[in-house]
Amino acid sequence: MLEKIYNWFVGLAFSQYMKNRPFIGNKHHQLPNGEQVEYIEFYGDPRDLFAQYIWKRIIISEWVFKNYSENAQDVVIAHELGHKKTPAYMSIPLIIVLLLSAIVGLIFAPLVFLYLVFSLLSHQITINIFVFLVFGIFLWEVILLLIFMPASWALEGYAEFYAINVVGIDAYKRYLIEWKQKRNIIKKSRVELIRILVSYPPRSLILWVHSKLSKSK
Ligand SMILES: [Zn+2]
Repeated sequence: MLEKIYNWFVGLAFSQYMKNRPFIGNKHHQLPNGEQVEYIEFYGDPRDLFAQYIWKRIIISEWVFKNYSENAQDVVIAHELGHKKTPAYMSIPLIIVLLLSAIVGLIFAPLVFLYLVFSLLSHQITINIFVFLVFGIFLWEVILLLIFMPASWALEGYAEFYAINVVGIDAYKRYLIEWKQKRNIIKKSRVELIRILVSYPPRSLILWVHSKLSKSK
């Protein structure tokens, strides 16, 4: 019963997520290691997203199949499969960040806002309290970022290592060359570049960790 409700909720959230991302269909892709991956192909603006594991489904934009080699498709799909296979406990830090953000956004931020409005109206606010509040909010954002960044890097790193294990390091390096050649086709905004930096570990770090790990084996 509980599982049914959960699946219904996940399905609903997914259909909301895909509202402006029209379906092409349910498809299968066989990875070089023989694994069969089920995914949903969709039409989408490549500036929006290429591929994602969201609400228990792997979605891949048709852009990936039209513009990238089979090797790159393997890496992208294996990366998303890596997200699907990530142990649940690895998501806990990210869930904590989301909960903390939600608590602040829904409870504290409106309270602070109301407090500021009332104090301004009654001319009771001192510059000290104002500075204290602004500093508090800034500090809070820094704390959230300090939890979010390593948590997200760990999850994305895990998926990327999964992809390397599937395709092999040489094929992965070929994918990186292709990715570097093609990444400028789509102009990214500065905000998007910051989001990428905060969410994804640099590829050079991935390669460095991989070389250290394979040496120690
Ligand atoms: Zn990812």
